Amino acid sequence: MSSEKKGLFDWYFKSNLLIRIFIGLVAGALVGIIFGESIAWLNPLGSILVSLLKMIVMPVILATLVVGAASIKPSTLGKVGVKIIVFYLITSAFAVAVGLLMGNIFKPGLGLALGSAADTAGKVLTQPKFMDTLIAIIPKNPFGAIASGQVLPTIFFAILLGIAISFLRDSKDSRIQKSAETIFAVFDGLAEAMYLIVNGVLQYAPIGVFALIAVVFGKQGASAVGPLGTVTLAAFLGYVLHVAIVYTVILMVNRISPKKFFKGARAPMVTAFVTRSSSGTLPVTMKAMDENFGVSKNVYSFTLPLGATINMDGTAIYQGVCALFIGFAIGMPLSFGQQITVIVTAVLASIGTAGVPGAGAIMLLMVLNSVGLPVEAGTPVAAAYAMVLGIDAILDMGRTAVNVTGDMTGTLVVAKSEKQVDESKI
Ligand code: ASP
Repeated sequence: MSSEKKGLFDWYFKSNLLIRIFIGLVAGALVGIIFGESIAWLNPLGSILVSLLKMIVMPVILATLVVGAASIKPSTLGKVGVKIIVFYLITSAFAVAVGLLMGNIFKPGLGLALGSAADTAGKVLTQPKFMDTLIAIIPKNPFGAIASGQVLPTIFFAILLGIAISFLRDSKDSRIQKSAETIFAVFDGLAEAMYLIVNGVLQYAPIGVFALIAVVFGKQGASAVGPLGTVTLAAFLGYVLHVAIVYTVILMVNRISPKKFFKGARAPMVTAFVTRSSSGTLPVTMKAMDENFGVSKNVYSFTLPLGATINMDGTAIYQGVCALFIGFAIGMPLSFGQQITVIVTAVLASIGTAGVPGAGAIMLLMVLNSVGLPVEAGTPVAAAYAMVLGIDAILDMGRTAVNVTGDMTGTLVVAKSEKQVDESKI
């Protein structure tokens, strides 16, 4: 190996990971803008990062949730559970309201008059039924759920298994008690091994990030202008306001330093932004909660996977903005009553949204349906929907970063109220 090559190699592994990721991001954007669509060949390099992160997701969720539920007394688990779910729901409702506010201020799509452009309609996607999503949380076959990467059913099963183990660890029968400790140790060991793998995977992140960003910018270029520019602006302003006001106020009220929070939360936020997957970011989020804030594993191993699945504040903001955009674009602005409906359905839709790229755009269909704007082939609604679908990659980056930030805020607040956090770090 030449000394120059060795120098680069050394630099790569010795320099700060976040700086490397940031360099990958900026360089990717520049390369994408310069080379345009022709840069699509970089795609596999980005897919490798997404695959690596996905690879560790299911084992991490299973191991950490079982360990989490098993190391906590059932009474405490109940308290943490109720607190975090209430937190997630209330902040999600706030988020849709922020999205609607932005949509009403910016009025994206106003004057587009897509009513006459119906023939440009986009593809139709099947609308998921919310009730079915709820029932599907109970896995018919837990092993099947784990094998096929269904997060909610796996969470459901892992929590039950963990609770059962936690009861058995208390058993008076020494045989049962001993076997419960053994199975607990197995999951604990698996969780530790997964964290080690996460560290290795992160070394690849800067390269994967470079490729992911280059492809997105190559496709969208600087040409996402006009109404779509307004949608993007409204959505991103909503994301920023939600983080800067709602989360910051919540942190301050709970006497958690926003400055320390945002410093410690940077890595998961950046990872979420570039991978567009809350689930994929999960290992990084857990690491940050553990190392940067000293949150007890009992809390974060439960609240974070749950949050990555049901708490989607960024997605809720996006749905608020886009529902209004589509209303304006087809010349039928949403009434006040319709906007209230959007708040309710967008909260439900964000719960049902999987933490993977693009999932929020599918759930937007559910929101549109609720206000009488079904996406059907050849209709103006479909045309407007196709427009926002076209820039989904960009909108998804911001909303995923907010989603993950919300999970971290909730986790810290609940951990603090349960005295399960290192006070000197917040
Ligand atoms: N990509 C988002 C996430 O993983 C979900 C969405 O598409 O809204 O959090």
